[in-house]
Amino acid sequence: MNSVIEEITKKYEPVIGLEVHAQLKTNTKLFCSCKNEFGGEPNANTCPICLGLPGVLPVLNKTALDYAIKASLALNCTVNPKSKFDRKQYFYPDLPKGYQISQYDQPLASNGFVDLPDGSKVRINRLHMEEDAGKLVHAGAERLHGSAYSLVDLNRAGTPLTEIVTEPDIRTAEQARLYVQELRLILIYCGVCDGNLEEGSMRCDVNISLRPQGTEKFGTRAEIKNVNSFRSIQRAIEYEIERQAEILDEGGEVVQETRLWEENRGCTITMRTKEEANDYRYFPEPDLLPINISSEKIQNIQEELPLLPSKKREIYSQEYKLNEEESFIFVEDLERGSYFDECIKLSNNPKKVAAWVNGPVAAYLKEQRLSYFDTKLSPERLSEVLKLIDDGIVSDSSAKKDLIPDIFTSDLSPIELCDKKGLKQITDESAISGEVEAIVNQFPDQFSELKSGKDKMKSFFVGQAMKRFKGKASPALINKILDKLITK
Ligand code: ADP
Ligand code: MG
Ligand code: ZN
Repeated sequence: MNSVIEEITKKYEPVIGLEVHAQLKTNTKLFCSCKNEFGGEPNANTCPICLGLPGVLPVLNKTALDYAIKASLALNCTVNPKSKFDRKQYFYPDLPKGYQISQYDQPLASNGFVDLPDGSKVRINRLHMEEDAGKLVHAGAERLHGSAYSLVDLNRAGTPLTEIVTEPDIRTAEQARLYVQELRLILIYCGVCDGNLEEGSMRCDVNISLRPQGTEKFGTRAEIKNVNSFRSIQRAIEYEIERQAEILDEGGEVVQETRLWEENRGCTITMRTKEEANDYRYFPEPDLLPINISSEKIQNIQEELPLLPSKKREIYSQEYKLNEEESFIFVEDLERGSYFDECIKLSNNPKKVAAWVNGPVAAYLKEQRLSYFDTKLSPERLSEVLKLIDDGIVSDSSAKKDLIPDIFTSDLSPIELCDKKGLKQITDESAISGEVEAIVNQFPDQFSELKSGKDKMKSFFVGQAMKRFKGKASPALINKILDKLITK
C-alpha cells in the first residue's frame, strides 16, 4: 500500500465488490454450434443464431452448463435446482438482437466463498451464465471517441460467460488483486476457463465506495469498467480511493455512476450514470426452457472437481513441509506443479525433490526454453538420480553440477552416465578401509587425540581421506571406518 492510500485509509474505509466475467472454454458458443475461439477472420464464426436474425431459436450448450456448475461448486456456491434465462434489453451495435441472454432473478448458483492465501475470505453473492456480445473495432482510435468509423466483429457474440459477483467484502486494492488471482487459478484448475487476461478471457468490473472508518453504512459507489490486468485492478482502485476521498474531504458527494479505467492515462473517467435494473426491462427468455439440475448431476460434477489451489497449498506446506515460496510456485505454475506431483509419487523426500525441481531442473529448462515434460529427465529418471544420491553412489553436489546437461538429453541411464563421467563415489568399504588405516598410522599423534575424545580431529582425517580419494569416497563411509578404528 502506498503512503497516500495509507493516509486516506486512516480516515476512510474502502468497500469493494467485484464482478468478474470469465469466458468458458467450450468448443462451441452458448446457443449455437459456431466455434468459440479467440482471433480468427472477423465474422467467420457466425450463424443466423449468433447474428440475431429473426425467427431463429437458441439451444443451450450442455458443456457450458456443466462448466458453469463446476465453477460454482469450486467456489463453494449452492447450485440452484431451478434457474432460468432472461433477456436484458439494451441497444449497442455489438449486440445484434437488441438484448443479451443472461440470468437475472434466478441465477445458476449463489452464496459461495473464496479463501484467499492471506487468510481472508471473500463471499460470492452469485454466479450466472450469459452470452458475450461482439467486438467493435474503432478505426484509427482506441475508443469510439476520435475514430472516423467503427467495424463490428461478431465472432465473440454468443460465446459463453459466467459472471461471478462478490459481496462487498474486499477492503484493499491488494486483496482485490489477490481475489482475482485466486479466482483465475480456481477456474484454470477446473479446466473451465483459460484465464488469459490479455485475450479478454477474464474481465473485471470494480465497484468501490468509501465510508468513514468505524461506521457501518456503505457510501455511494462507482462502478469501474475495463479493468483487465492484475496491475490495473490495483491501480484503478487506488486511483478511485484518492478521487473519492478528495470529493468527500471537500464536503461533496460521490455520484453513483459507471466509470471507465483509462489504462494509458492511469485514471478513471465518467462513462455514464449508473443504470438501474429497470432500465433493462428484464423478462424471462421465452425461447429457452428453465434449467432444472438434479442432485445426482451436482453430485457427479462435485466428484469430478480437482484438488483446488488452497488445498494444494495446504498439502505442500503441512504434509510436504515445503516453504511458502516453494508451494507458491508449484501451485501457480501448473506444469511445474504436476511434474513435482509426479516426482513425489516416486520419492519419500519432498524437500529434496523440490530443491531439484526448482534448482537445476528449472534453471536448465529456462535456459533451453523447454517445458517440464519435454526432456529425457522424466519424473522416473529424476527419482533414479535421487536414489543414486541416497545410496551414496554419487554426491548431491556432483550430481547437480556434473550430470547436467546429459541427464536431460542422453539415452544413457543415470547410473551409466555416472559411470561414463567418472562421478561414482567409492562405496566399497574394503577399498577404503586400507587407505584410512594407512592415514591413521601416518598421523599417530592426531589419532591418539581423536581417540582421547577430541572429536574435532575427525574432520582432519576425513579431509585427508577425501584428498586421497579425490573426493570420490563417501564421507559417511569414512566416518564409519574411523569409528571402527577408534574402538578397536
Ligand atoms: P449491479 O447489478 O447494479 O451492478 P449489484 O447489487 O449486483 O449491482 O452489485 C454489484 C457489485 O457491487 C457487487 O460485487 C457488490 O458487492 C458491489 N457493491 C454493492 N454495493 C456496494 C457499495 N456501496 N460499495 C462497494 N461495492 C458495492
Ligand atoms: Mg454491475
Ligand atoms: Zn452462431
